[in-house]
Amino acid sequence: MGNHIICPYCKSDNVVGSLLMVYGTYRCLNCDYQGSFILEMDDRNYEKFLKEKDDEKEASEHSKEE
Ligand SMILES: [Zn+2]
Repeated sequence: MGNHIICPYCKSDNVVGSLLMVYGTYRCLNCDYQGSFILEMDDRNYEKFLKEKDDEKEASEHSKEE
């Protein structure tokens, strides 16, 4: 059972529970976001999420060419 915690701002999975140990509070080590709003998904949704993230990246790279 895999549960992934994703930062809603930078979409990184480099997220840990807050050092303050407040229940339901998370901290992103990538962008330093801290709060209770976080994206949570299981393995299946996470795979889909990563794929969509790649697609987004490709799309923005293509639009830069114009
Ligand atoms: Zn972040």
